[in-house]
Amino acid sequence: MIRTMNSCHMLIRDTGKGKSVFADKDFMSGEFICEFTGKICTKEEYVRLHDPDNNHFLQIDDDRFMGPSNQADDLVNHSCNPNCGLEFANGRIRLRAIREIKKGDELTFDYSTTMDEDCWEMSCLCGDENCRKVIRDFKHLPPELQAGYMALGIVPPYIAKKINPSC
Ligand SMILES: [Zn+2]
Repeated sequence: MIRTMNSCHMLIRDTGKGKSVFADKDFMSGEFICEFTGKICTKEEYVRLHDPDNNHFLQIDDDRFMGPSNQADDLVNHSCNPNCGLEFANGRIRLRAIREIKKGDELTFDYSTTMDEDCWEMSCLCGDENCRKVIRDFKHLPPELQAGYMALGIVPPYIAKKINPSC
């Protein structure tokens, strides 16, 4: 078990299926948990540099990706029924609880919420009853799920404005 460098409220554990990040305290819905950081690169660099089977890049704009930070934010797993989302605001990208989280719960977000890249997808074994099996770009999500994520404020502006041009 490793205590992370950028937050004292998260723990990294190897679950046997790879490293995962867990809450080290209770979080209220809406509470910020940690900031995502990393070197910014272009899509061309992302395509060249990322490992499709172990992808720690985060899309942050049409032609911009955030590379790995080598901290806990790289290791937050996807779930089709997540307890967190990423809020893009004031130049920062922060993981925020979207429901109450108990100490010891795994922290997850829906990777599709930040994806509009047309060049990467991932199979999902999250085990949720609504698991989508294949994780693809936001535009492929069912409209009601898109609307739910939009209402929570966890869709980055570059995707939100394509879905709802008034954003
Ligand atoms: Zn799933």
